[in-house]
Amino acid sequence: MANTQNVRTLMGDQDPVNRTTNFKEVALGYSTGAAMNEADRCLNCKNKPCVSGCPVGIPIPDFLRKVADGDIAGAYEILSAANALPAVSGRVCPQETQCEGKCVRGIKGEPIAIGRIERFVADWAAYRGITDKVEPVSSNGHKVAVIGSGPAGLTCAGELARMGYEVTIFEAFHVAGGVLSYGIPEFRLPKAVVKREVEKLEKMGVKIELNMVIGKVLTITELFEQEGFEAVFIGSGAGLPMFMKIPGESLIGVYSANEYLTRINLMKAYKADAPTPVLRNKKVAVVGGGNVAMDAARCAKRLGADVHIVYRRSEAELPARAEEVHHAKQEGIVFDLLTNPVSIEGDEKGQVQSITCIKMELGEPDASGRRRPMAVPGSEFKMEVDAVIMSLGTQPNPMSYEGTPGLEKTKKGCVAADEKGCTSCPAIFAGGDAATGAATVILAMGAGKNAAKSIDEYIKSKN
Ligand code: FAD
Ligand code: SF4
Repeated sequence: MANTQNVRTLMGDQDPVNRTTNFKEVALGYSTGAAMNEADRCLNCKNKPCVSGCPVGIPIPDFLRKVADGDIAGAYEILSAANALPAVSGRVCPQETQCEGKCVRGIKGEPIAIGRIERFVADWAAYRGITDKVEPVSSNGHKVAVIGSGPAGLTCAGELARMGYEVTIFEAFHVAGGVLSYGIPEFRLPKAVVKREVEKLEKMGVKIELNMVIGKVLTITELFEQEGFEAVFIGSGAGLPMFMKIPGESLIGVYSANEYLTRINLMKAYKADAPTPVLRNKKVAVVGGGNVAMDAARCAKRLGADVHIVYRRSEAELPARAEEVHHAKQEGIVFDLLTNPVSIEGDEKGQVQSITCIKMELGEPDASGRRRPMAVPGSEFKMEVDAVIMSLGTQPNPMSYEGTPGLEKTKKGCVAADEKGCTSCPAIFAGGDAATGAATVILAMGAGKNAAKSIDEYIKSKN
């Protein structure tokens, strides 16, 4: 009989006070005993609602049963056959709205902690070198190019390599991983975990060409005509930040969250000897309420600042994962809710000095279904800050499409694509943030996996 415990098995965290002084991982992970105990809560439901909530279709009850029985190697075999990046998705996927959101145990108690168990299994296998063992696959002689090495590109490349394709990933940055490397901070997703997943792909024969900005160094047309690729997958993400268009946004000390996080995560600006340092601020306002805002706020805190999240709606509408909000609050980040910036002011040297905000109240729901925030007249107030980090969302960067005439785009600037590929060219496929503009890691992985199937069908249909 399954473990009838109604609450999840606890997972330890780094102490909130100590952790704001370091960039080490906050969540400490399960022990084998804790993972087995938690997995044993699974009821092995016949209709498997958890699986329908997983964009990459992991056979969740099967891998949980193996863990409950203490067969962790068997669990890893099941998990890794369905999911190319289990150590990543176990850490950062929004499980609460996906697999765990559908778990039957969540009706009368807490859902099974599927993400925590997934992370445990992936780490267990890595520490024992099991993840390094890669079965060689003989080449089928067909070449596919992948633009971007984020979760969409990595998953697409991995799936194609398993089918025997010769895959080359072209990455603009000097490090592979996309947002996993440049966006999500070390304390949520250690970069060693991302490196391990990238190295696994290389062992499978995937070539990764770094510092290759497609659209500048080579165009998509050249990938086909000069380099001999038969299909191209665009997984170039959504790295173009948005601003509010309020006075003062060009002052020194106003960052996009993307720039701030890239400096800290990719360029390691938190280290004393970093080649591209970042200013250590006294008081920082982070504008926005998503995961990106939480990451920027928690990084600023670790660099010694007093940090305020400025968000125009209420706590109920915060788009960030509940766990991220909880961790941010534990770390002493102040939430100025129902508050919206109207201008940023600077000193005579052009350095940010303050931010003026207005109080908001919620009206009727808007097109997004969320209650519309409305300014309360006369409620403006000034907050002294020396940095403002704008975290208002991003759009796809159109650079990779440069030099490729006729590529259709959506109103949001994404590549127009359906599950069978781009609507403009049968040999081009797009997925992840490049095709949706608002994905998550797991949705990007699902899109990469589906695209690999479509690419395989397309190439087979031509030959
Ligand atoms: P990306 O990860 O953006 O990767 C795209 C890659 O393409 C990049 O490496 C980029 O350098 C490269 N590229 C772009 N243009 C070119 C070009 N012209 N030539 C070559 N290469 C190019 N989602 C979650 O599920 N959970 C979270 O906790 C979470 N936290 C997040 C925190 C932050 C700070 C951010 C920014 C996003 C977060 N997300 C989270 C969202 C998630 O990371 C993205 O949805 C996901 O990374 C999209 O994957 P992708 O592969 O489509 O794009
Ligand atoms: Fe197990 Fe929950 Fe999935 Fe049922 S829904 S099989 S209890 S993980």
